[in-house]
Amino acid sequence: MSGKYDLIIVGGGISGASLLYTTAKFTDIESIALLEKESEIAAINSDHTNNSQTLHFGDIETNYTLEKAEKVKEGAEMLAGYLENHDADREMHSKRSKMVLAVGDDEVQKLEDRYHEEGFGDLYPKLRPIERDEIAELEPKVVEGRDPSKDLLALQTPDGYVVDYGATAKSMVEQAKEEASVDVYTGTEVEDITETLDGYTIGTSGGRFDCDVAVVAAGSHSLQIAKELGYGEDMVLLPIAGSFFLADDFLNGKVYTLQMKKLPFAAVHGDADVHDGSITRFGPTAKLVPTLERGRFSTIGDFLDVFGLNLASFLSYGNILADRILLPYVLKNLVYDLPEVGTKAFLPHVQKVVPSATLDDIERAEGYGGVRPQIVDTANKSLDMGEAKLVGDDIIFNITPSPGASTSLKNAMQDTETLVEFFDEDYSFDEEAFREDTIGQFPRAEDDVDPDPVPADDD
Ligand SMILES: Cc1cc2nc3c(=O)[nH]c(=O)nc-3n(C[C@H](O)[C@H](O)[C@H](O)COP(=O)(O)OP(=O)(O)OC[C@H]3O[C@@H](n4cnc5c(N)ncnc54)[C@H](O)[C@@H]3O)c2cc1C
Repeated sequence: MSGKYDLIIVGGGISGASLLYTTAKFTDIESIALLEKESEIAAINSDHTNNSQTLHFGDIETNYTLEKAEKVKEGAEMLAGYLENHDADREMHSKRSKMVLAVGDDEVQKLEDRYHEEGFGDLYPKLRPIERDEIAELEPKVVEGRDPSKDLLALQTPDGYVVDYGATAKSMVEQAKEEASVDVYTGTEVEDITETLDGYTIGTSGGRFDCDVAVVAAGSHSLQIAKELGYGEDMVLLPIAGSFFLADDFLNGKVYTLQMKKLPFAAVHGDADVHDGSITRFGPTAKLVPTLERGRFSTIGDFLDVFGLNLASFLSYGNILADRILLPYVLKNLVYDLPEVGTKAFLPHVQKVVPSATLDDIERAEGYGGVRPQIVDTANKSLDMGEAKLVGDDIIFNITPSPGASTSLKNAMQDTETLVEFFDEDYSFDEEAFREDTIGQFPRAEDDVDPDPVPADDD
């Protein structure tokens, strides 16, 4: 196997697949290849068992500022529009109610302020405050057995897209492969990338490839590859694995709890599985691990490559983990994966959403959960939330913790604009057609004919 291409994309998760789809369908780039080390597309973090299957709009995520919510919203609408356009049979997604729940005076006040004062009500026209009776109608188990003296308020929206990002990535790759310009190589691991006079040479387990420009969308491995080429020197990763617990038929849609103060990782939430509404999933947990892929000890070396074993990395870890709130949280999260005692320790998180849940109702989801490559800024010794993009000389690296799947098409759009510049505008991007295919298909509040937020059985 070998080849010379205008553009090579490394990594076939939802990020690489979104970029392949965007460039194949909406540019005139003449030759594009995608290289994926696994035998299947989207087998790592984008697989539906490994992430929370949420399309993050920023409406119920109380860990987002308004500014972050505005950014994420456009990306989510692009992906939602793609699904509306290409998944009429709901094989890749479901659409259900979703809400963020406030319990007690303090939380209720916070949620009211967020909605009325901080601009979230205006930004999300479909989001509405609902009280105990309506919460009970949508999600009976959220109210059942809950202290009646405690105030309850939820912000609810029917825009609860539950997404199988793996299936979505596969659909994008299949559509891209219809174009003559595209080749997809699975089972092809990139081993080294070398800059040449007119682009890059990529050594892989399947042979050598050459390209003018490259995009590395290799998830947790992107920073490792970037460092080998001299980029991202002020960054290391804090890999955070997430596990899930399963219960039978607890929730009809998605229920978030309010973000815990000062915690950098999203609050635990519950939702119905994308493909089987009778399975309710709770999580994710947040466990610090020294690997770049879940359960693959062979990636310890990759983690150490990124960590670099230098003083700045150790001091940054020390500074972040010394936090009075974060340290106990990280330690507690180590317990959740232990048999029995882990389930017992996790139960209170489930009871925050479903108060009547007992130990017999939940079990740890074996084999579920991926790794979020959280970014550490070693210059400031701080934890940066969200994704990162490094733009180099005719090369882009995408590092994609949550909400990387939700924003994958927006990222792809931005990368495609950069690629056109890399190619000195020899190729063009039909952004209007891209927008029409994606965000153009997103249903707006004013388009809704059926205001009933209780979804029919749509699995
Ligand atoms: C527990 C958890 C919950 C999450 N929940 C959500 C959520 O609800 N919503 C959301 O938007 N996001 C969520 N995320 C984040 C989301 O899963 C990721 O942002 C997204 O899957 C990243 O996609 P990706 O394509 O960039 O990376 P990946 O899916 O990891 O894909 C990278 C690909 O690159 C390949 N690769 C790596 N190295 C090489 C190499 N050397 N050669 C060839 N191929 C290579 C890998 O095999 C892999 O297929 C969650 C993540 C976790 C772990």
